[in-house]
Amino acid sequence: MTDHYEVLGLSRDATADEIKKSYRRLARELHPDINPAPEAQDRFKQVTHAYEVLSDPQTRAQYDRGGDGAFGLGDIFETFFGSPQRGPRSRSQRGQDALLRIDLELSEAIFGANKTLTIDTAVGCEPCGQTGAKPGSTVRTCDVCRGSGQIQRQVQSFMGMMVTTTPCTVCKGSGETVPSPCPDCRGQGRVRAKRDLDVEIPAGVSDGLRLHLPGQGEVGFAGGTPGDIYLEVSVTPHPIYGRNGDDLTAILEVPVADAALGFETEIETLDGSAKVEVKPGAQHGDVVTLKGLGANRLRGRGRGDLRIELKVLTPSRLDSKQKDIFKKLRDLHRDDKPRLGSRRSRGRF
Ligand SMILES: [Zn+2]
Ligand SMILES: [Zn+2]
Repeated sequence: MTDHYEVLGLSRDATADEIKKSYRRLARELHPDINPAPEAQDRFKQVTHAYEVLSDPQTRAQYDRGGDGAFGLGDIFETFFGSPQRGPRSRSQRGQDALLRIDLELSEAIFGANKTLTIDTAVGCEPCGQTGAKPGSTVRTCDVCRGSGQIQRQVQSFMGMMVTTTPCTVCKGSGETVPSPCPDCRGQGRVRAKRDLDVEIPAGVSDGLRLHLPGQGEVGFAGGTPGDIYLEVSVTPHPIYGRNGDDLTAILEVPVADAALGFETEIETLDGSAKVEVKPGAQHGDVVTLKGLGANRLRGRGRGDLRIELKVLTPSRLDSKQKDIFKKLRDLHRDDKPRLGSRRSRGRF
């Protein structure tokens, strides 16, 4: 018996890649279409058989131990041209995922909310029980591929006649056909419909966040598992309150006299009214923090803060009496002149 390694011109420790390369080279050289000499044909058979044995790790190991093993050309074909799928693939298909938008008020985003969305989707067809077959009829085994989902064909290749396997076009590889499609779903096993979707919005979501709702999407073809829904949060801008991470922000406009003398006031927050206390000598840009009146933390506990930035307003239309008061004020602060300062160190008059 000839040595398979010798036939391929390889040593016994040849790698799988070397075996493949060597076989390819010899097969091209000795192929009957290229080399019609009878001894070349014998060699081609030897080379191919050697490759059959050595290209599979199991049969190679068996051969190395002293045995031999051979199998059909189809396996070689697959080695070079990819392995076709074995057996029928299921007729049903998973439903598509969907990306939807949900509009929320700021308070809903911060505190959470239960919402009901009406979605346009695919639901299972009831008359046919999602099979797609007309009630009373059944899904049948495909006559063309006899249920295998595959068609085998002979093709001419550089290594001679080969058998290729392609998915059956009649049943699209499923091995099943629906001779009488259900009229309600036209054989799809699902129908388009509007459906209510109840969603629990967790507290603390923010604009652009996507909520993942597994299995809430459209039902698949022929009873396939439903897809998922991704719900993208869109928060309607609030006329007063902004958002910075878990904090809420607001601007408090303060007349210059109140800023100088300090004040207390009530403001309407998303939690109801709250007291704001500002000490005398407040500066434009100062921030008053109301602890715990921000957004709920989506991950983690507690809430952010409400940060109120003071916007000190200087009167722009003074009557003569007010003008006199400001002039007096200026005279009292004779040393305070407009001057250049840095952003960091705030000067105080
Ligand atoms: Zn078929
Ligand atoms: Zn149906």
